[in-house]
Amino acid sequence: MDKICLKGMSGDELQSWCLEVGQSGYRGQQLFEWMYRHGISSFKNMSNVNKSFREYLENNCIIQTLKVEKISPSKADKSTKILFRTIDDKFIETISMIDKDRHTVCISSQVGCALDCGFCATGRMGLKRNLSSGEIVDQLIFVRDNKKNPITNVVFMGMGEPFHNYNNVISAADIFHSPRGFNLGATRITISTVGILPQIQQFISEKQRYKLAISLNAANDVSRTLIMPVNKKWSITELIKAGKKYSNMKKREVMFEYVLLKGINDSADDAHQLAHLLQGIPCKLNIIPYNETEGSYQRPDEITISQFSEILYDLRDKYRVFVRCSKGRDINAGCGQLAGRQA
Ligand code: SAH
Repeated sequence: MDKICLKGMSGDELQSWCLEVGQSGYRGQQLFEWMYRHGISSFKNMSNVNKSFREYLENNCIIQTLKVEKISPSKADKSTKILFRTIDDKFIETISMIDKDRHTVCISSQVGCALDCGFCATGRMGLKRNLSSGEIVDQLIFVRDNKKNPITNVVFMGMGEPFHNYNNVISAADIFHSPRGFNLGATRITISTVGILPQIQQFISEKQRYKLAISLNAANDVSRTLIMPVNKKWSITELIKAGKKYSNMKKREVMFEYVLLKGINDSADDAHQLAHLLQGIPCKLNIIPYNETEGSYQRPDEITISQFSEILYDLRDKYRVFVRCSKGRDINAGCGQLAGRQA
């Protein structure tokens, strides 16, 4: 019989499972706290659980889903890339980024990605499979155990498209948010999507309190379709409308991301079109100068980057403008550079 994976289960799921195997529901709460608050990797450490149940757990359950394959610290900044091996020998990457009091962990939601955005290294791998909620949670547990700086923020901006793995991503985010789990504020958890409209709408109708980021990456449909095939399904107008709806909910502010690609979407005209799209929307615009991958795209020079952002800054109306300085570019850990390479 296959072992059952407890990592990733919610409090309710653990409670029902405990009842099913003849234990009290309270044991579910204990399991939740041991796994997520304390991050134990062996049932042996569960000191308040009786020996016979611990033995049952050891014989029948899995508690750890990932093994560390390689740790690469950046020489340029305080970021570290961790390469993990899954139980079925797939590879995923996680980045820990430390900047003063802020410790952001960028986590993966899939092995590979189906969306084939031309500028993204993960896209080039194709989709291998979704990660389980346990595999998502284990990435954060490892970072928490191995870095002394407390984790302050989590971003679903690693490998994969989180909204193609909606349920597992939300279950993991719920564990990060739970006071009995990682106790992270909901607004410290950001989910970034290429723009899968039905799931954005689901996210809004469920009134999820996590932060939503939409990768716009172009200011008109012709350019966007050129670099992101997904744009054939859902247009910029629909995404802007959905983003606006999210921002209009209490205490929410959508983030739009815009990868700046030399000669593709970095002209003054693009900047004006983008400013027009964002006009009046309370949102955050994150401009991300392209990080090199194997494709044919290039990073604009510093002057173009600042001219582009200044136009947006000057025309801003309710939206805020930031230029994201990707960390860990020297270790291929910047946005869009993750491909689960073993070497
Ligand atoms: N699939 C999700 C999350 C992963 S990508 C999404 O698309 O939002 C996280 C961010 O990195 C996205 O905004 C994406 O557009 C950006 N990105 C991808 N490749 C990049 C690259 N080579 N340089 C800079 N940013 C990149």
